[in-house]
Amino acid sequence: MPESKNIRCEEVVEHLLAFLDGEVEEGRRERIEQHLEECRSCCSRADFEVALRQKVREVALKRPPLRLRRKIRQLIDQF
Ligand SMILES: [Zn+2]
Repeated sequence: MPESKNIRCEEVVEHLLAFLDGEVEEGRRERIEQHLEECRSCCSRADFEVALRQKVREVALKRPPLRLRRKIRQLIDQF
């Protein structure tokens, strides 16, 4: 029985995070890419994950402003 070229949504979802990190092996990556082109629901899910990661990265990069940090420290010191 020849191996099916198409993979199921469950498999895509399962490997989506690794896929976005570039941590899936070559063959699987191609099949996921192909699936994402054909499957609207997995594609929007991938878009969502990418947007979410970008947001998380932005927040992580932005430190609170110095004045705010002083204020927080003052509040902590009061206890
Ligand atoms: Zn799908």
